[in-house]
Amino acid sequence: MKILVLNSGSSSVKFQVFEDDISFVSGLIEQIGEENSAISIILRDEKVVDKQIEIKSHFDGLQIAANYLLELGVVKDLNEFDGIGHRVVHGGEYFNKAMLVTDDVIEKIESLQPLAPLHNPAHLDGIRVTKKLNPLVPNVVVFDTAFHQSIPAHAYMYALPYKFYEEDGVRKYGFHGTSHHFVAKVAARMLQKDINSLNAITLHLGNGGSVTAIENGKSIDTSMGLTPLEGLIMGTRSGDLDPAILFYLSRKKGYDINELDKILNKQSGLKGICGANDMREIHSMAESGDKKAQLALDMFYYRIKKYIGSYSAILGRVDCIVFTGGIGENDDIARLESCHNLENLGIKLNVEENALRKKVAREISSDDSLVKVFVIPTNEELEIALQTQEVVKNSR
Ligand code: ADP
Repeated sequence: MKILVLNSGSSSVKFQVFEDDISFVSGLIEQIGEENSAISIILRDEKVVDKQIEIKSHFDGLQIAANYLLELGVVKDLNEFDGIGHRVVHGGEYFNKAMLVTDDVIEKIESLQPLAPLHNPAHLDGIRVTKKLNPLVPNVVVFDTAFHQSIPAHAYMYALPYKFYEEDGVRKYGFHGTSHHFVAKVAARMLQKDINSLNAITLHLGNGGSVTAIENGKSIDTSMGLTPLEGLIMGTRSGDLDPAILFYLSRKKGYDINELDKILNKQSGLKGICGANDMREIHSMAESGDKKAQLALDMFYYRIKKYIGSYSAILGRVDCIVFTGGIGENDDIARLESCHNLENLGIKLNVEENALRKKVAREISSDDSLVKVFVIPTNEELEIALQTQEVVKNSR
């Protein structure tokens, strides 16, 4: 099946074309509506388009991309795709799996706008454009939150007045679901286990980071919450903290809500502690003796360790721990330090194997580790393509 995968942001669209599970075209439309808007396309590992061009809207951008796809012979007709898979950040409580786009689905995504004000409107723009450009192709939405809809109420509720849940939807939703689900399925295959009997802790560590506890193949808890701010220490986000800090800072410094939002989301995390948010830079700062950089790293590892511990407690049996995302896949020191001294939980790394750089899914635990530890490159676009194929097949 030929599937187009779209990830539409407020000023950019990433796209990828899959033939079954192989992607041979990827592209990026960026700075939509800005002076320096541009499009780039990679076809079979070669950059074939890299152009600054006026792109006023999502429609313009996708129209230009579509013309290139026709010109490059990727498709002969824009209706030739078997399906178009759209990434959607927030599916709220409506969606626990990928869905064929209908008017009702669009209405529900629209109604979730208050929970994802930057993302959901952009995704809807993408859907409206493909409905026009590819009128005969079914559209499918794949939600970042869907995998976490199996989390039970005692884990997703916040201990606030119940009316905020009922009236305003305040609860844990979780994010990165497509990635956690994807790597869990790969881990199950590596363990030669049915996904429905897999217990795992999956760590997606990128600029944003989250941990998920997976029981019998289903998410039963995850570190991100109502928004992607909760949980781990991230590049620029604080993760967990005492909410009373906000009242304290507001009263003491006079910050308003918008300033606090910016501080917690953009100026905190690793960046807040040491001024940098790229792990490679922070490692080199720490190596040259920067104490704040070392502190940021120590805090980062410590928070991950606490989550591994608490998720081990709620799972009881853990078959494997999976590291993924830019840091999880590439940063052997972060993996080593986050798993350091966890032998009492049955977690023991093979230090040499961990230090090797490989781009493939692999085991990094020692032979006598009771819990297997894997590094598994994530591929959210592939997961979206696979789920889109499934939905399209089932709808025929
Ligand atoms: P995003 O969440 O934006 O998708 P990524 O998953 O690409 O982010 O991860 C970005 C993070 O991965 C950055 O902090 C970057 O420093 C880190 N990273 C990428 N390559 C390496 C590497 N070789 N060693 C350590 N960290 C790395």
